[in-house]
Amino acid sequence: MPATTPAHKAAPFWWEDARPTPPSPRPLPKAVDVAIVGAGYAGLAAGLVLARAGRTVAAFDALAPGEGASTRNGGITSGSIRPDHATLVRRFGEDRALAIEAEGKEARAFLQHLIRSEGLACDFQPVGLFKGAIGLDQYDSMAREAEALAKRLGIESYAVPHGEQHGFIGTDFYRGGTVRKDIGGLHPARFHAELLRVACGAGLDVQAPVRVTAIQREGQGFSVASTAGKVQARQVLVCTNGYTDGAAPYLRRRLVPVRSRMIATEELPDELMARLMPRKMMMGEARQLGYYYRPSPDGRRILLGGRDSSRSGDPVWPTQALRAGLIALFPDLKDVRLTHSWFGHVAMNRDMIPRLFERDGVLHAAGFCGSGVVWAPWLGTRAAHRLLGDANAAQTAFDFRPPPAIPFYRGNPWFMPALIQLFRLQDRLALRRARR
Ligand SMILES: Cc1cc2nc3c(=O)[nH]c(=O)nc-3n(C[C@H](O)[C@H](O)[C@H](O)COP(=O)(O)OP(=O)(O)OC[C@H]3O[C@@H](n4cnc5c(N)ncnc54)[C@H](O)[C@@H]3O)c2cc1C
Repeated sequence: MPATTPAHKAAPFWWEDARPTPPSPRPLPKAVDVAIVGAGYAGLAAGLVLARAGRTVAAFDALAPGEGASTRNGGITSGSIRPDHATLVRRFGEDRALAIEAEGKEARAFLQHLIRSEGLACDFQPVGLFKGAIGLDQYDSMAREAEALAKRLGIESYAVPHGEQHGFIGTDFYRGGTVRKDIGGLHPARFHAELLRVACGAGLDVQAPVRVTAIQREGQGFSVASTAGKVQARQVLVCTNGYTDGAAPYLRRRLVPVRSRMIATEELPDELMARLMPRKMMMGEARQLGYYYRPSPDGRRILLGGRDSSRSGDPVWPTQALRAGLIALFPDLKDVRLTHSWFGHVAMNRDMIPRLFERDGVLHAAGFCGSGVVWAPWLGTRAAHRLLGDANAAQTAFDFRPPPAIPFYRGNPWFMPALIQLFRLQDRLALRRARR
């Protein structure tokens, strides 16, 4: 079979082990303490805390729980913040900038603690992340940033010069890179399934597939209308991220859903995997539309992801583009067969900072900008503590004004394909400059 034939499955590789399935139908409660919209990592993490605190909680999901981004992602526990330190300081001042960066460290530690303390079987491996530089200038600035990160936050991070690169990754595409030891990888669908198991065990009522259609103030609380009927809720938390629809119009004007696609290779020979990914690390890049990639948890395949500028259906060309990217990195894979190709939505906002905010009494935790494996459970948990009135446990640097609205935007990101093409062009020019 020719390697370019779209013979792959159009479903996440992760679903082979943990396919999201709707729970058996349950009667809709008439009233609950808290209604949560969205049963991805954020909604479940919040539901777990609230149910353990004795609240009656229903989490609604329009799809099978987890069928949004939480079972489709790369499982890289980065907890990244897109803007660099200088940009954060310029926008928010030194104190908030430092607090935002420091919270990444706390949130990654929280995730590890959650996995261990709840016994979540999700193949978590604290292997570190290698980030490749496309040219020597980029390498120099990344090396400085790695040093600053170690000084500023005490995170173990260091530069890897070009000559030593093959000890980390079997490619000549990069001109060196940096390593961060505080980042690892997990099996995203297993993580979600396990979180669902413990949250339901604690008493969370998951209603799915049930779409919330409207949230309205009523008396001291809210009336939550859904495709299964109405529920009265004292409090409401919206955790819909890249799948936000008309039920949360205020949030929808502030989040841009962007397609991110991943491909999985067939199983590769051990000797080849050992050469391409000798330390089994997570991998990333500093390009605008950089790839993120990793070995599968069993170390036998490569899973690679990147932006997908298609807007409807599931065309073949974004898969072919990712495959070309994979081969540019690893020419040895020129004949590789892909077994899976899938996409999901990440949620970007204008300042590229995740948020916890309240609007008209409804709490929102969203805008994870492609790094929600760490941020979604973290901010979901902070949101739950806030609903419980525990100001100390609810503290977070992401609890400030809502992300700014996007002019002329109501939820249809018509401008995204053009923006992605622009970023692609910038990346191409940067690569050309770097290789002169
Ligand atoms: C291909 C891909 C790769 C990624 N890779 C990484 C990675 O390696 N590392 C990382 O940190 N992050 C990654 N991400 C991002 C990460 O997956 C998300 O940030 C995270 O899963 C968000 O979790 P969540 O709970 O906020 O939202 P989701 O898991 O998206 O859940 C939101 C849910 O809300 C539901 N919903 C929406 N509207 C309604 C409604 N009206 N009524 C009922 N339900 C509703 C949806 O059905 C959906 O299930 C990736 C994402 C994608 C798509």
